[in-house]
Amino acid sequence: MDEYPSCPICFDFYGIEQTHIKAPKVLTCGDSLCKECLAGIIKKSQTDFILCPICQKEEKIYKNLDDYITNKELIRLMNAYFNISKKDIDNDDENKPISYKIITLGDSGVGKTSIFARLLTEKFEGNYKSTLTVEISTPYYVKYKKNKYELFFYDTFGQEKMSSILPKNYLRESDGVFFIFDISNQDSFINLEKWYTLYKNQKENVVGILIGNKCDNERQVEYNTAKKFAEEHDLKYLETSAKLDKNVKKAIATLLEQIIESQKKLYINITPLNKSPSFNISKEKQKEKKGCCSRSKKK
Ligand code: GDP
Ligand code: MG
Repeated sequence: MDEYPSCPICFDFYGIEQTHIKAPKVLTCGDSLCKECLAGIIKKSQTDFILCPICQKEEKIYKNLDDYITNKELIRLMNAYFNISKKDIDNDDENKPISYKIITLGDSGVGKTSIFARLLTEKFEGNYKSTLTVEISTPYYVKYKKNKYELFFYDTFGQEKMSSILPKNYLRESDGVFFIFDISNQDSFINLEKWYTLYKNQKENVVGILIGNKCDNERQVEYNTAKKFAEEHDLKYLETSAKLDKNVKKAIATLLEQIIESQKKLYINITPLNKSPSFNISKEKQKEKKGCCSRSKKK
């Protein structure tokens, strides 16, 4: 029988530690669900009993959530799985950094080149010649959680007509994107939708952040307006100043974190070919199978 190491109620993957909020807890009937969903069900109960959400059997509530046994078998499976992916994600070889490509998109003059230059040279020269097509930087090395990363910045030009001539493979090949506008220039904010669409058309899964640059200038775009745009497009929002070196490193750290997270998610959707279990069952399928999935015997 297949076992799916995700909660059959919220479909989130189980936590890989016993203390995790999503740790799998076993009910007397043998069904498992995550600690968070169990807590939610208990909270709603008016009596000392709940119904198992999977088999509908009556279950006496324990006073303490931790009195419910943790399903160690599911944790073991998750751990085995994560160790496989960890081997690929973590990089033990100090000399071999993990490479990512980061692209900037935004109107001409918003400070795309200045932001990269600030990172690479720790300077603000304030007068960069227009980028003609796409310029690839020398690598920018960072260390993050024991791993070394080598980031290549793809600096683009931001002319109106560019969308037709910007080589699309740069967009497709990028691992992350900075959408940049100038908070003192309303038009550069309005044009963001175009940049976003241009990117999204090439890359379904947008891993990026929104940057409002020139925060040392008087603003034309309110913080909340930009933040709302970011949220609507599932992006984090940061305001930077390449000139004053404000938040520039934070921007790159935030994007790098997102890239790493997105790569982990990629692994989660991989089905190991060696043996079961299968990890990539769709939520719809899980719903269909509701009632048998995640069931495991109480130890
Ligand atoms: P790009 O066309 O998007 O690459 O923009 P640039 O990096 O070439 O910058 C365009 C202009 O904005 C230049 O005159 C920069 O000096 C200026 N600039 C860039 N970043 C900032 C910033 O953080 N604050 C201010 N006040 N000016 C900036
Ligand atoms: Mg430029």
